[in-house]
Amino acid sequence: MSAPLPSSARYDVVVVGAGIIGSSVAMALAERRVKPVVIDPDLSGRLSSSEKNAGGVRATWWQAVNIRLCLASIRYYETIRDEVGFRQKGYLWLYGPDTWEEALSHLALQRQLGHEIEALSPKQISERVPEIDKLEGVAGATFSPRDGLINSNLLKVHYRAKASSLGANFVDRVFVFGIHEEHDEVRLECWQADEPLSDAALNRILSQDDTGAAQSGRTFELRCSTLVICAGAWSPNLLKLMGLDSPTEAVRRQVCLVHNRQTNFEAYGMIVDSSGLYFHNEGPYILAGYSPLEEPPGYSFRYDGEEFFQREIWPRMFARMSCCERLRHIGGWAGLYAVTPDRSAIVGQVTARVFEAHSFSGRGVMQSYAAGQELATLITTGREGPLDARPLSRQRFVTKNLIVEALHI
Ligand SMILES: Cc1cc2nc3c(=O)[nH]c(=O)nc-3n(C[C@H](O)[C@H](O)[C@H](O)COP(=O)(O)OP(=O)(O)OC[C@H]3O[C@@H](n4cnc5c(N)ncnc54)[C@H](O)[C@@H]3O)c2cc1C
Repeated sequence: MSAPLPSSARYDVVVVGAGIIGSSVAMALAERRVKPVVIDPDLSGRLSSSEKNAGGVRATWWQAVNIRLCLASIRYYETIRDEVGFRQKGYLWLYGPDTWEEALSHLALQRQLGHEIEALSPKQISERVPEIDKLEGVAGATFSPRDGLINSNLLKVHYRAKASSLGANFVDRVFVFGIHEEHDEVRLECWQADEPLSDAALNRILSQDDTGAAQSGRTFELRCSTLVICAGAWSPNLLKLMGLDSPTEAVRRQVCLVHNRQTNFEAYGMIVDSSGLYFHNEGPYILAGYSPLEEPPGYSFRYDGEEFFQREIWPRMFARMSCCERLRHIGGWAGLYAVTPDRSAIVGQVTARVFEAHSFSGRGVMQSYAAGQELATLITTGREGPLDARPLSRQRFVTKNLIVEALHI
């Protein structure tokens, strides 16, 4: 990894962004005998969402294309289960009376597409998870046993290792600040830092408050036949360099680790409460998250700490489970969701020579394998892959065929 790039070299495909999506796209391209160059200002991904997520994997969605991509990804994760820490302990999703009928109405589509899912009454919920002993406001739940949790870092490492073994080149400390599409190639203006960047400098550079001029490094040009934008929540900035608008917003999401002496949830996968709280066991602790609706867009990584835990997490956990009366806040972090207006990803072709996969709206880990395969098929053959990801193309915002996914957290 990270061989220096000769200035003014020309490549078949350059992938911008080496998060879980860029790494999966690189693997899928390399499997198709294309050897991409993948560039990122920080290959370790310190600010990337791929290093800050909750590791949930589910095919429990309401839109067919989202279910298809997740099911195909789950089938792949099952083949590398131990390598990537894939634990199929299920998703238990609790609904209030306002959403329960709608959840039931989607079971037929989910099952028809091959997703295993059952409906539980409140009594069955308590039998399945005795810790859930307060069921006020719960009308029912779904349980999907093949969903579960994954180590997203190990999954990214898996994609990168396979891509590299097939000839992909991952290059560190490279930031793209100019894109020029010409009739037979795309020219990228790049800057490479001499030293690893601090978190603050990385944040400034990524959000384009600073093109790197304050740091020591060199600028150079890369030319390629095809460009793939996989820059997560920063993708709108790259599209802006091409004069294109993007409907995606970066929104901060916080999760915290809590300690509970009385119990742990090791036996279960992800549990999603009707209040929007989600949690699962994480080593000796519980990882819990909640996404306030009023969170403003922006590139903020501030973690509100104890205050977040006291305000959003503890009251919801104790309201559902007596055993969560005495929780201790251990720590936590904030990362970015790249959110579209319909809360589905953008995957497809942008212009003749530019493709994109980003804005997974909280679903990038679980869809990463299939999204990479579909996009690589489109790039190398000009045709859609077997899962038909066409509904996720940016065209939908023009034609207003939105893929509104309500089942987000
Ligand atoms: C708190 C939280 C919980 C989540 N929980 C889940 C979950 O349970 N399950 C799930 O599936 N998803 C979850 N997600 C979402 C998931 O993490 C993302 O959808 C996924 O990681 C997106 O991957 P990505 O590769 O598109 O973006 P990223 O991982 O953010 O990678 C983008 C990369 O692009 C690079 N880049 C940006 N601009 C440039 C540029 N100009 N030049 C070069 N490189 C550039 C960045 O450095 C970065 O490394 C969660 C996210 C958060 C924040």
